[in-house]
Amino acid sequence: MMNRVLKKEIKVGNITIGGANHIAIQSMTNTSNKDVEATVAQITKLYQEGCEIVRVACLDLEDAKAIKNIKLELAKKNINIPIVADIHFDYRIAIEAINAGCDKVRINPGNIGDIDKIKMVVDKCKEHHIPIRIGVNTGSMDKEILDKYGRSAYGLVMSAKKHVDILESLGFYDIVLSMKASDVNMMIEAYTIASNMFNYPLHLGVTEAGTYLAGSVASSIGIGSLLYNGIGDTIRVSLTDDPVIEVKVAKEILGSLGLIDKPKLISCPTCGRTQYDMLPIAKEIEEFLNTLGPKKITVAIMGCAVNGPGEARDADIGVAGGINEAILFKKGEIVKKIAQEDIVNELKKEILAMI
Ligand code: SF4
Repeated sequence: MMNRVLKKEIKVGNITIGGANHIAIQSMTNTSNKDVEATVAQITKLYQEGCEIVRVACLDLEDAKAIKNIKLELAKKNINIPIVADIHFDYRIAIEAINAGCDKVRINPGNIGDIDKIKMVVDKCKEHHIPIRIGVNTGSMDKEILDKYGRSAYGLVMSAKKHVDILESLGFYDIVLSMKASDVNMMIEAYTIASNMFNYPLHLGVTEAGTYLAGSVASSIGIGSLLYNGIGDTIRVSLTDDPVIEVKVAKEILGSLGLIDKPKLISCPTCGRTQYDMLPIAKEIEEFLNTLGPKKITVAIMGCAVNGPGEARDADIGVAGGINEAILFKKGEIVKKIAQEDIVNELKKEILAMI
């Protein structure tokens, strides 16, 4: 893994992105802000799953105003999570959202009209110390750029640059950038160019990535390749699914690359040597591990006692199947035998004793 490319630090509420700070996980609600109760319930679930920054779409002034009550209700539950107002085209909604206490605005300044309107938003952001995320994607590139560069990685970056230039001309540098494409190759290329061109932190994502399976794979490759190359400061996995799933996938991506402490499950694919009911055990232990929070422990669930402990030598603890039973092993050394029906409970007990 390459060294992290260090970018300017930007504060979003209580989270700092960029620099050497950890890669922040984001997601977006799919409720209407006007339904404060439903939105707060969804944000609560996202927060509990490990989401660190949440974005809410503001379609009109009422949605923007609702941010105030959403934050108040979250505060009552002791939940402090930065809220990003996602706004298209209308500067008044941005101003309203900032007045309502949002922690960041996602808006493309080139799309909100004349420079006076942009300046009003920028001044408001300066007054409240709110950063702006410029978020371009292949679906919303402007015509001039499209004519010049086509729907390409470089075109995406130049599209972002156009918005950056506007903000910088107004003395505003509190910027986060994203340039999402649904084409994974294009997305990787665009962020790579952007990382060389700008000193602003990058928000990574594959846009319109699809449903759970295809979207998770596309996001893992796109986001994962960039992170491996040291690029990226905050991530959002976009899935046509419950946003809570987005956070789970984001954590898996960061966990796979060793960027967060997360319990790890090693399990073999099973083969003809497997002689116990392993699959339900692996699933239940995986769910259990996901409830443990940021712990560093590796657990192995292996199919056979012949190869299992050896293959999973790096695991802290694990089981390997016999005939309707399993042996418990620690660091590749066999400890004892457990009957099939006791495996899950025994393993949970041992894991809890170890963390
Ligand atoms: S650990 Fe045993 S059961 Fe699992 S794949 Fe390897 S040989 Fe097969």
